[in-house]
Amino acid sequence: MKINLGFRFLDRFWPALCAALVCWLLPAYADSKTRPNILFIMSDDHAAHAISAYGSKVNQTPNIDRLASTGMRFEHCFCVNSICSPSRATILTGKYSHLNGVPTFNRFDGSQPTVAKYLQQAGYYTGMIGKWHLGSDPTGFDQWEILPGQGVYFNPTFIHAGGRHVIQGYVTGIITDLSIDFLKNRPKDRPFFLMCHHKAPHRPWEPEAKYRADFAGKEIHEPATLRDDYATRTDAIRECTQKVFYDLTRNDLKLQPPGDLAGPARSQWLGVKPTAVEIEAGGHTIVLTNDALHDWMYQRYMQDYLACVQSVDDSVGRLLDWLDQNGLASNTVVIYTSDQGFFLGDHGLFDKRFMYEASVKMPFIVRWPGVTKPGTVQELMAINPDFAPTFMGMAGLPMPADMQGVSLTPLLKGETPPGWRASYYYRYYHDPGDHNTRAHYGIRTMTHKLIYFWKKDQWEMYDLVRDPDELHNLYNDPAQQETVAKLKAELYRLKKEVKDDDQYANQQPPPGTD
Ligand code: CA
Repeated sequence: MKINLGFRFLDRFWPALCAALVCWLLPAYADSKTRPNILFIMSDDHAAHAISAYGSKVNQTPNIDRLASTGMRFEHCFCVNSICSPSRATILTGKYSHLNGVPTFNRFDGSQPTVAKYLQQAGYYTGMIGKWHLGSDPTGFDQWEILPGQGVYFNPTFIHAGGRHVIQGYVTGIITDLSIDFLKNRPKDRPFFLMCHHKAPHRPWEPEAKYRADFAGKEIHEPATLRDDYATRTDAIRECTQKVFYDLTRNDLKLQPPGDLAGPARSQWLGVKPTAVEIEAGGHTIVLTNDALHDWMYQRYMQDYLACVQSVDDSVGRLLDWLDQNGLASNTVVIYTSDQGFFLGDHGLFDKRFMYEASVKMPFIVRWPGVTKPGTVQELMAINPDFAPTFMGMAGLPMPADMQGVSLTPLLKGETPPGWRASYYYRYYHDPGDHNTRAHYGIRTMTHKLIYFWKKDQWEMYDLVRDPDELHNLYNDPAQQETVAKLKAELYRLKKEVKDDDQYANQQPPPGTD
C-alpha cells in the first residue's frame, strides 16, 4: 500500500521533479560561451560631462572613450533618486526607492531578491568589489570585498566575508587589482558577473600624486551657469548648501592647517568654509576674496575632481586590456556607469540630489560584442531600474514580475521598441540632509521637466529644448499652463504606476553621508 502510494506520488509529481532536476543541473553545465560574462564598472559621482565621449570640455578620458567607440553610449540615461545608496539599491533590485527600502541611507535588507542572486542561482559566478555603501553585508555574491561605508582614498580598509584588512596604496588601483584577481581566480566553466564599484571621484576628491601634479595649476573651463543668479527658480536652490563658492571647506580645497593643530581643533579648522584664502604667487603672498576667491575655489575643486577621474579612466583601460589579453573580450559585456551624475559648477553647485540634468544624467556605456554596433549613440530614455532587467536579459533569464525597469536589450540591438518610455518619474527624499537640499519629485520627458518640492509646495517647469541649461522656470508663465497641466497629469499617472504611495514622504532620514 505504501509502495503504491509512493508510485502514485511519483507519477503525480514526476514532471515537477524533472523540471526541478533540470533547473538544478543546468547551472552546473552552463556554457560560458553561450551566455555572456558581465563586467559592470561603476564609479561614484562621475558626471557624464567629465567624459570626453560625452563631449567633456574639462578633461579627456581615452579609456572610457575606447569603450564607447566599441560599444553603445546612452545619451539619455537617468537615475530615479540622485544619491549614492538609493541608486545602488535600485540597480540591484530593479525597483524604485520606496519599494526597495532605501530612500536615503537606510540599511539595505539583503534578504530581498537582487539581480546578483538571480544570476548566481542561474549559474553565474558573482562578485562585488569596491564601494557598496548599503549598510548590510552583500548577499548573492560568491565573492565580495567592500569598503566600509564611503571608504578612504589612501591605504583603505576592505571588508570581506572572513573579516577586514588594510591594503596599502591608492583605492582606485586597488579595486582594479582586486577585480582582476577575481577574474583570474574565477571558475572557468561558469560565466561571471562582476560589479567593480569605484569610490572615486567622490568627495573629498583626493587624487593620486601623478594626476594631482598633472592638474596642479591647470585652468579648467568654467560652465556657463557657474554664476547662476537663480532668478525665476523656487527657494530650494537658493537654500541648498552645495554651492562651490560658499560651501566648499578648507578640507575640500586642500588648505594646510597650522602645524601645531591636532585632533578636534584640526578637524574644526579643516571644516571651515573660507571667505578669504592666502596663496603664494610669484614669490608673494596674495589674499583672495570675493570673485577672485570664487574663481580659485572652482579651479581647485575641479582640478582634484578631474585628477581622481583620470585614475578611474586608467582602471577601465586596465580591465579592457586584461579581457583582451585573456581572450575574454568577445564574450564579455562591459558596462561603464556612475551611481548618478554630479554638478561640476553647473548652477554654481557641486554634489547631486537635485533633479537638474547634471545630477540625474548617468553616463551609461555598454559594449556587448556581436550585439551593440560599435560607436553608436542611443537617444532613447533609459533609467537605473532598467539595469537589473537588462542583466537578466543578457543572461537569458525571464524578468521577475516585481522589477520595475525594462530590459534594454532591444535598444542594445539597435531596435526601437514601439511605445518605448517617453517620460520617467523621479523622487529625492533626503531632507533635511547634508546639503539642505529640499525633497522633491517630478518627471522628465524628452522635451520638458516638471519638479515639485512637496514640503514647500513649490513647482518648477523647464522646456529642455529651448532651455537645456534649465535657467527659466516656466511654471507660472500663463502661456505654459496647458503644458503644465499635461505634465502634471503624466506625473501623477507615473507616480501611481510605480506604486509610490508617499510611503517615505515624512520619514526622517537616518544618519549617514552621501
Ligand atoms: Ca554617488
